Amino acid sequence: MPLPFPPFKPCPCGSERSYGACCGPLHTGKQPAGTPEALMRSRYSAYALRDTAYVRRTWHPDTCPRDLNLEEDGAKYTGLTVHSAQDNEVTFTATLKVGGRAHRLRERSTFEWRNGEWVYVSGAQP
Ligand SMILES: [Zn+2]
Repeated sequence: MPLPFPPFKPCPCGSERSYGACCGPLHTGKQPAGTPEALMRSRYSAYALRDTAYVRRTWHPDTCPRDLNLEEDGAKYTGLTVHSAQDNEVTFTATLKVGGRAHRLRERSTFEWRNGEWVYVSGAQP
């Protein structure tokens, strides 16, 4: 699968690594997410890049919304800060703009090891 974003550019997840050395190989399926934090970062990048298929693929089938379509998502994803990552939980703040207005979303996400890979289960506002 081709990379959806130039590999030399800074990764949208804010890791300060290049996309090709960070979330890119996860998006193309070349590399699995080794940790819940890596998966969480790659999912944020996928939202930023409107990669609906990746977000869906990394979402537990029991909790994934049926009508997920990032093409229709009007938000612009402007930044990510990971506060903590422990066991299967990651707490982060994502910043985004919707209709020109800035929003901050703080979430504690829960992940599950399922069929040999991490998947996102659900999130709660801490
Ligand atoms: Zn990244």
